[in-house]
Amino acid sequence: MEGSSRRKRSRVEMLSPNYKLGKTLGYGSFGEVKLAEHKLTGLHVAIKILNRHEMKKQGMEEKARREIKILKMLMHPHIIRLYEVIETSSDIFVVMEYAKCGELFEYILEKGRLEEDEARSFFQQTISGLEFCHRNMVVHRDLKPENLLLDSKHNVKIADFGLSNIMQDGHFLKTNCGSYNYAAPEVLARKLYAGPEVDIWSCGVILYALLCGSLPFDDESIPNLLRKIKGGIYSIPRYLSPGATDMISKMLMVDPMRRMNMPEIRQHPWFQAHLPRYLAVPLPDTMQYAKKEVVKLGFDGKQLTESIICRMQNEASVAYHLLLDHQFRDSNGYLGAEIQETTVCLSFPCLLYRGKNVVDILIYVGK
Ligand code: ATP
Ligand code: MG
Repeated sequence: MEGSSRRKRSRVEMLSPNYKLGKTLGYGSFGEVKLAEHKLTGLHVAIKILNRHEMKKQGMEEKARREIKILKMLMHPHIIRLYEVIETSSDIFVVMEYAKCGELFEYILEKGRLEEDEARSFFQQTISGLEFCHRNMVVHRDLKPENLLLDSKHNVKIADFGLSNIMQDGHFLKTNCGSYNYAAPEVLARKLYAGPEVDIWSCGVILYALLCGSLPFDDESIPNLLRKIKGGIYSIPRYLSPGATDMISKMLMVDPMRRMNMPEIRQHPWFQAHLPRYLAVPLPDTMQYAKKEVVKLGFDGKQLTESIICRMQNEASVAYHLLLDHQFRDSNGYLGAEIQETTVCLSFPCLLYRGKNVVDILIYVGK
């Protein structure tokens, strides 16, 4: 007891002077996720506390490291932002954007099936975040409404990249992961898969859950559940519109080669309806663009990637961040125009987006 309160005290000391810890938001595999206040700005963040001892015991250090590495790379209005990582001998603190309204899962439980327009809006946001992951060679592999969080304006924020993988061209993955109900048939059959198509299957299941308030594949017996998924056995309620029905059936195609891909989802009339302007054009591949430009300046691409991931400050990484910020500003208001949430990036120079205006303020906090 005394040991645990001492541990808690040392945690608080470790996070001060920058953060004031608050209530527990949820429990992850290796520790709690806490609400915290960033003292300098008064803004709220979520801090995932990963206990090193627990992670080692479960042999899952790699999972946590992967999540951190991936979150560091991805900057998108519908992906949880990672602000900084604080490491101590006992814990790793992952400071993230706070999603005030919790899990989409809870929202569906509370409301039951959603109106098509509301479901479509969640779906459009999820797809745009996911498309961004795929363009940056990241597959999530554990998409489900528990891992889609909602901010105070009910914008979707994709979270929990613990099972994600960085795709390599020409390499196929063969890890069995994610929750059964959302897992693609080829994953369950332990076949090789390229990556993006398994996330698209999970999004099909999520879309079904949003529109119907239940799961397409469900059974108390695991063998029966697996049989249904592998056979693509599910029923679509009559109240769904023809557009939504078409979308779901094309995403839940058992054969991954025949399953809808990202461009096809984007072009589908049901997806296109009421599509907000900032989601109408896919985000230009800003990270790849910025990297290419830096390489053109004579820097080594591999070293640059390492510097970006490790947040090392050198000539190449500074040039990269400058180009990146410049690109975001020019990219037709993708992040600016219709994102109402105020997003402040801590510990890294970046833009402050507030309401309908993109305010050009460079903020340097922390290290
Ligand atoms: P599991 O493996 O059990 O899914 P995990 O270790 O991957 O857990 P997360 O899913 O990332 O942990 O977080 C656990 C819970 O904490 C989430 O389901 C959510 O309720 C809450 N949570 C996590 N991140 C945030 C956040 N940024 N804002 C608000 N709540 C959060
Ligand atoms: Mg989770």
